[in-house]
Amino acid sequence: MSATKIKSSNESKMKNFCHNLPKIELHAHLNGSLSCQTLTKLFNMKHARDTNHENFDVEKCNSLTEIFDVFSLAYSVTETPEAVYTATYDTIKEFYEDNVIYLELRSTPRACEKMTKKEYILAITQAIKDCKKSNLSIKVKLLISVNRKQGFKAAKENIRLAIEMKQEHDCIVGIDLSGDPTKGEAFIELLHIARTAGLKIAAHCAEVPNEVESMDIIKFKPDRLGHGTCIHPLSNGSEELYETFLSSKIPVELCLSSNIMCKTVPTYDAHHFKYLYESKHPLCICTDDKGVFNTTLSKELILVMKYFNLSENDLIKLMKSTASYAFASCIEKNELIEIIDGFSKSAENTVKVTKNFK
Ligand SMILES: [Zn+2]
Repeated sequence: MSATKIKSSNESKMKNFCHNLPKIELHAHLNGSLSCQTLTKLFNMKHARDTNHENFDVEKCNSLTEIFDVFSLAYSVTETPEAVYTATYDTIKEFYEDNVIYLELRSTPRACEKMTKKEYILAITQAIKDCKKSNLSIKVKLLISVNRKQGFKAAKENIRLAIEMKQEHDCIVGIDLSGDPTKGEAFIELLHIARTAGLKIAAHCAEVPNEVESMDIIKFKPDRLGHGTCIHPLSNGSEELYETFLSSKIPVELCLSSNIMCKTVPTYDAHHFKYLYESKHPLCICTDDKGVFNTTLSKELILVMKYFNLSENDLIKLMKSTASYAFASCIEKNELIEIIDGFSKSAENTVKVTKNFK
């Protein structure tokens, strides 16, 4: 067999494995996760009664090359509860089709002319409930996001809503601190209130160099950190920050395509996955914004296999440890681990059968 043929057969084996592996996604923003199909559907829903609107199709959506354009399109087509419901339902279905068995979506509640923040959250929780009713075998949880840029008042309101609504909607499990890392602040005192009320905290941290704030966030000890890019001294962090981070053992959510496309990491080889994995720091692989970065969780795992030489077994282990970082109950986490173990055994059996056959 020629070298090219071996390479392509290895690649397709890798692809199949990553697709079939039962996966856990812990860092997915709803708006950024909307696929071109969903965006097109929402655009046409919005303009259904408007005969003058410009024709919009999937091809046109695919041709949007600027990250900002995709985000602003997603924002403009999710301004009613119906649109937010469809966006959520379709996104969950797409993760399910990629064999994601557990998904944590995150979203900033939005108030506009046709919707209150509460109605926004209700549309999402309803879609989560309806996916469960349609027997999609994927468990879905929601983190309410606090956007740094929107300021203290909005952050306080979002956290109040999360605390109030989690009583009736058990899919609401946590708070996500996100938004432009160069604007606003981390609202640590509000995160304390959320934690005391029983919510888990995932905080975007060190996306850009900001040693003082990164240290404050790490010392607050969120349940998970997003990105953690500028922590290592070679990535515009510092020795002290890196040591504090390693000893904190806070699981970090790594999003490879997102970091490359946003240019916060120069190349895949240089991604902080490498030294964090080698240091055995708890970590998981996530998509961040699968629609904007045209990715899937399977594709992100392929990148990890390709650039960091992880084996199938390494990925199974990685996925099982990811289950333990989920904002789910112990029973749910054990169920996820059992599903992955079941897959792992059937994968071993396939190897044995092939071996016997030979
Ligand atoms: Zn993110």
